[in-house]
Amino acid sequence: MAHAPQDTHGKLHLDTLAIHAGQQPDPVHGAVMQPIVLSTTFAQEGPGAHKGFDYGRSGNPTRNALEGCIAALEGATHGLAYSSGCGATTNVLHLLRPGDHVVCGDDVYGGTFRIFDKVMKPMGIEASFIDMQDLGRVRAAMRPNTKLVWMETPSNPMLKIFDIAGVAEIAKAGGAPLVVDNTFATPMLQRPLDLGASIVVHSTTKYLNGHSDAVGGFVATSDDELGGRLRFLQNAIGAVPSPFDCYLVLRGLKTLPVRMRQHVASAREIAGKLERHPQVARVIYPGLASHPGHALAERQMRGPGGMISFDLKGNLDQSRAFLKALEVFACAESLGGVESLAEHPAIMTHASIPAENRRALGISDGLIRLSVGLEAIEDLWADLDRGFAAATRAG
Ligand SMILES: *Cc1c(COP(=O)(O)O)cnc(C)c1O
Repeated sequence: MAHAPQDTHGKLHLDTLAIHAGQQPDPVHGAVMQPIVLSTTFAQEGPGAHKGFDYGRSGNPTRNALEGCIAALEGATHGLAYSSGCGATTNVLHLLRPGDHVVCGDDVYGGTFRIFDKVMKPMGIEASFIDMQDLGRVRAAMRPNTKLVWMETPSNPMLKIFDIAGVAEIAKAGGAPLVVDNTFATPMLQRPLDLGASIVVHSTTKYLNGHSDAVGGFVATSDDELGGRLRFLQNAIGAVPSPFDCYLVLRGLKTLPVRMRQHVASAREIAGKLERHPQVARVIYPGLASHPGHALAERQMRGPGGMISFDLKGNLDQSRAFLKALEVFACAESLGGVESLAEHPAIMTHASIPAENRRALGISDGLIRLSVGLEAIEDLWADLDRGFAAATRAG
């Protein structure tokens, strides 16, 4: 492509934007792939006369390309990259002041809960955690000092689906921007800004990079005022990604559309098979008609995603035996990579959530979460069968 398709007006399809947005052949050498610019400083023709870059924390050409690409995918006019998803979250929360209040979904990423509980609370910023499946509860939780509404949909690990447009309307009426953590869905399956959200947050560590080899975060918005304040905070706080990591995420993004199609196709098939399995008490997957958020997911998403949670019948020893027996699925935290992962939320990713909160959310000792990767579906199912056999022997 001769021109830089920095299209944010919907003229190009997402499959095309994932490959080209924010990028153009290098004007000096014609290199088609985005160069990794490692230089921390940029020569100026005279004091203050630079070509848009002066210092590596404030701006970097490789980071710029990444910011342009993900912003285009989310349909945003401002994109900001960070050194981690938690770094992105922390930057957004620095829009707040002591005395401010946040309404937050009750099933958010453990690290996000920890930032609210252990970092923001001591600074005088309070959060109410509520089940946003009931819009009445969201409305009731709004206070005069509510300055932000935060949601994650699908949520983790219970894969609850929240009504983005419905909550956006309530947030707007209360004068608070709605932030949606879109890590699980990615812009391929869900675009929160189109549904009324003000800010989108990502851990690019997961699907956007997709290869489990770079930690990163992202924030996108089309609100100029918020975009300007976030750009100031990105530079002032300094949680910026390295140019090399920006390059890795840019490279990963090129296959995001095809990866997501396969993640969804494989997860659909495995969820259906799990639902018919005698050793499975319950399957949680928004693509199943049995999921309470199924109809809403069909409305606001273009696919139910690649994550599945299910309750294995039996005790904790049997859950351990199941996970230990797997050979293709790695027993590991994180998600969204090409490789399949299986984990035990109560012991692993959600151990930092108090046991009583876990119980209230439905995170039982039998709950297993799968990140369905891109391996052959036959090999994935044979592997799960190995786990079921091991769970039976441990019983
Ligand atoms: C992983 C994750 C985060 C945090 O991102 P890091 O890159 O690990 O800091 C935030 N939200 C969700 C939904 C996540 O899965």
